[in-house]
Amino acid sequence: MDLGIRGRRAIVCAASKGLGRGCAEALAEAGVELVINARGAEALEATAAAIRERHGVAVAAVAGDVTTEAGRAALLAACPDPDILVTNAGGPPPGLWSDWSRDDFIRALDANKLTPIALMQATLPAMMERGWGRVVNITSQAVRAPIPALGLSNAARTGLTGFVAGTARQVAEKGVTINNLLPGIHDTARAEALDAGAAKAGGIAPADARRAREATIPARRYGAPAEFGAACAFLCSIHAGFIIGQNLLIDGGATNLTM
Ligand code: NAP
Repeated sequence: MDLGIRGRRAIVCAASKGLGRGCAEALAEAGVELVINARGAEALEATAAAIRERHGVAVAAVAGDVTTEAGRAALLAACPDPDILVTNAGGPPPGLWSDWSRDDFIRALDANKLTPIALMQATLPAMMERGWGRVVNITSQAVRAPIPALGLSNAARTGLTGFVAGTARQVAEKGVTINNLLPGIHDTARAEALDAGAAKAGGIAPADARRAREATIPARRYGAPAEFGAACAFLCSIHAGFIIGQNLLIDGGATNLTM
């Protein structure tokens, strides 16, 4: 299927690895020019070079922390008026509900709620003026069903979801769509770190921790960043203009819901 977005320009945040990279790769395959971001410059440059070589599109790399004002300003300076915005950042640390301080909450809200909101506020006006735009926010399955150890994520990301639900319906008449992708467990560095933590806590091997988590997923495996990226590219395509303010779970069936 031709996604109809060849030559469009996209900002993809937190994209040197994992799900952000999966989205960047899929958009590049569809012919989209990219500005990608991550904190670590070396891995980011390597990813940019690999995507350029594989897909033959322009890829600019802007190293910086997207959860800071300076990081976002650098990203927007490199691409002030993208046609496509994919927001993403690292997830907050796990813990117990009673342990988190106000500062912990502020950090999580900054990273997983206020950062995507600031990027949307900066880029939506030009998209609306041009009459076309696509925003995809990478959130989490925690938005549909809370993950007990990830209370900071549960709290911050549901706030973003509420903002998107209202805003998506205000910009849709200008040809701009905003949707959220809700990952379940995917095969990325974050999943590896969570497996390592579970293995340590349970006194088992990381491979056994992974097998135990895979057994909780109806698909009996972790998702692949490329599969996730393909869903993102579809939501950014010309075919997805009537999909507004939705929350798409990509979790191998792990969240036990009827709808
Ligand atoms: P990952 O494999 O650890 O990759 C994270 C990417 O984001 C890296 O490129 C990292 O590069 C970049 N990054 C992290 N913090 C950043 C920041 N403050 N500013 C700019 N770049 C940043 O993570 P992932 O698994 O793809 O997860 C992506 C998001 O999805 C996270 O919010 C995670 O909580 C959420 N999620 C993931 C899963 C899963 O199973 N993978 C499930 C549910 C939700 P640098 O470190 O160099 O900055």
